[in-house]
Amino acid sequence: MRQVMVAGNWKMNGSSESVKELIAGIKQGMDSAPDTEIVVCPPAVYIPRVSGAVDGTSIKVGSQNICDEDKGAFTGEISGDMLKDVGCEYAIIGHSERRALYGESDELVARRFAAARRNGIKPVFCIGETLEEREAGVTNDVCARQIDAVIALEGVEALADGVIAYEPVWAIGTGKVATPEQAQEAHAFIRGKIAALNADVAEGLRILYGGSMNPGNAKDLIGQADIDGGLIGGASLKAEDFLAICQAGS
Ligand code: PEP
Repeated sequence: MRQVMVAGNWKMNGSSESVKELIAGIKQGMDSAPDTEIVVCPPAVYIPRVSGAVDGTSIKVGSQNICDEDKGAFTGEISGDMLKDVGCEYAIIGHSERRALYGESDELVARRFAAARRNGIKPVFCIGETLEEREAGVTNDVCARQIDAVIALEGVEALADGVIAYEPVWAIGTGKVATPEQAQEAHAFIRGKIAALNADVAEGLRILYGGSMNPGNAKDLIGQADIDGGLIGGASLKAEDFLAICQAGS
């Protein structure tokens, strides 16, 4: 039985004050979603503050990226060791904004995935197609290519303790959510692809949906057989909305 996970990607939003309020609100309402694993991914500078605030609760903290190298002259990067040191259990890897805006290739994303694992951090590995790719009928090919880069570097077993987030790029931050059927079809493909290599890994792997998930559509999406939770952007910035999504998974 896979535990539902709901992770909030706060992206580059917030301030010391708003982050304090947001995490206090989530803590206050978290008992309403007892069966959901709740994860928050603040901007890196706020991770220590958030880690301190959730100490003693079941809320987990994740980063929004991780360096593929472990130490040295990599200006502006943050290593897995450092993220672990400030309380991260998860790291978002390969978010479409990183791929599109900062040119992260499948190979670099795979190296970041490897860095997370060797530092004891669980990757939340993002994959998904653009609108053009969906319209060209190559959604499955794109997802397969992105997954294959990780498998080539780390082997399929590396996915056993990880999480895949299927995030169709056209649904991220656009309000255009994939229908439950569209999302389930992609998730089933992803699980089937992994199952062809290792059935146990596929069975245990959590596959989150991401892309304009909100309190109104979360239950239908998470209710699909192969959707094990959500990676939430916009709706994770309001405690009430985020908690409503967490409840939809409980
Ligand atoms: C995301 O950025 O991972 C995301 C899913 O964003 P949103 O929920 O705002 O579409």
